[in-house]
Amino acid sequence: MTAVQILAKLISFPVLGGESNLSIIHWIQAYIEDIGVDTILVPNKKGDKASLHCRIGPAVDGGLVLSGHTDVVPVAGQYWKSNPFVLTDKQDGKLYGRGSCDMKGFLACCLAMLPKFVKADLKKPIYFAFSYDEEIGCLGAPALIAHLQKHYTEIPKYAWIGEPSLMEPIVAHKGICLFDTTVNGSAGHSSGILKEVSAVHEAARLILWLEDKMKTLVTSGSIDNRFTPPHTSLHAGTIQGGVAANVIADKATFSWDARVIPTDNLEDILSDFRAHCAQRTEEVKIIFPKFCIETKEQHAPVPPLNTKKEMEIVQLMQKTNPNQHLGAVSYAAEAGQFSQAGYESIVCGPGSIEQAHRANEFIEKSELDKCMRLLQKLCIEFS
Ligand SMILES: [Zn+2]
Repeated sequence: MTAVQILAKLISFPVLGGESNLSIIHWIQAYIEDIGVDTILVPNKKGDKASLHCRIGPAVDGGLVLSGHTDVVPVAGQYWKSNPFVLTDKQDGKLYGRGSCDMKGFLACCLAMLPKFVKADLKKPIYFAFSYDEEIGCLGAPALIAHLQKHYTEIPKYAWIGEPSLMEPIVAHKGICLFDTTVNGSAGHSSGILKEVSAVHEAARLILWLEDKMKTLVTSGSIDNRFTPPHTSLHAGTIQGGVAANVIADKATFSWDARVIPTDNLEDILSDFRAHCAQRTEEVKIIFPKFCIETKEQHAPVPPLNTKKEMEIVQLMQKTNPNQHLGAVSYAAEAGQFSQAGYESIVCGPGSIEQAHRANEFIEKSELDKCMRLLQKLCIEFS
């Protein structure tokens, strides 16, 4: 099958982040096994999702993991001119469909190259590692990476994550973590404002503290000009609380995210926030002894990526990729998780992040061609 034929098949599985991906992963598994390569599924606890990995080539150290996710983001509320789950060729050089660029295009290229990888006399192994639930916080990758490390006696050295980058090698991305903070205040008639503690007002103060903290990081020189914006961002995206304008709110919850540059430490920022919450709690307890603030992570933090220029993966990429510029992106990806686990990691994939998550997402056919050529060169490099 060609990359485009495989892409059409992959697009037809409307697997959103958070949903069971067994349909698409079983199709990929059957495709790989038909070519004669054994696969291993790494199911989640409930058994309704699974990652997949496999090795092509000998069991020796120094191999390369090609990694991508099988889930996509929703299409609800978006205006699509074609069925998002039918790959549509409008004869304009682009192929439309949800996930075409983020990131089933890369998966399709890897799978289309598989027969060549198998036929080549690889001296070092190439692995596929395909995850689930990337779009809701890179949730599937940690178990997949742990399984790779446990399963193979040899040690792969590199990880190439095919997120859309117009085939530019990306050596740095920000880390991310999402939080929910809940404030418990005391309810009452709004005329009694000084006798009660409004959870809404307290939540608003905490959000402003986060904004001030972000500004303090900037003024203290925590800057990495490779990123836009060039600093860690702290941002509250939702807030809920209260029942009416004239009732003091006893509860408010806000969700927020921290996108950290590689030189900032999420733990430090979080411990400053927790210390501030503890101090504020002490102050407010004088009025309302049961006052409390609770912050929970929505998922485990995704670490930032900061691959050094001197690393072999960068040299390998520069040897095989006509695009020599080393980029940095402000979104987070599974590359940070692979890097934290000890793999020299890079992001590089067909299609543009500009098209990702949008209505009428597409991938240029020329991008798939570029990716295929790079995989071909890599195959020669590893033979
Ligand atoms: Zn993606």
